[in-house]
Amino acid sequence: MSTVSPPAKPEPVVAPWARPFWDAAAKGQLALQQCEDCSKFIFYPRVACPHCASERIAWRTASGRGTVYSYTVVENNAPSAFIADMPFVVAVIRLEEGVQMLSNIVGCDPDKLRCDMEVVVTFERLNDNFVLPKFRPASNS
Ligand SMILES: [Zn+2]
Repeated sequence: MSTVSPPAKPEPVVAPWARPFWDAAAKGQLALQQCEDCSKFIFYPRVACPHCASERIAWRTASGRGTVYSYTVVENNAPSAFIADMPFVVAVIRLEEGVQMLSNIVGCDPDKLRCDMEVVVTFERLNDNFVLPKFRPASNS
């Protein structure tokens, strides 16, 4: 019997202006852009503020706290790099700073997940190049 090793997971495609987000993640920090003119937080990373079009944008370290806005549990998948992870949770997290982030929720029985559940960021190494921000229930801390 032969076994076929699954393909490697894809790496994020990083725009130059998003590099600080990934550099922070590699250090175990969640970084968000904040507009220096209207003070609103911005995610995903951009070159101009989506609220006021200002190009005066700074990077801040986020609290890492948020709540589950919506989620789905992936229980079936075509053969892929993710098949060993099933079931896994893909969720939209509403961060304290007011932006939303698509990520995974880990360290939680998918049956126990609920919308509005409090979560905190955690970091998982993808490979030598990337660390991925993910979230886990805050009550597990
Ligand atoms: Zn702005």
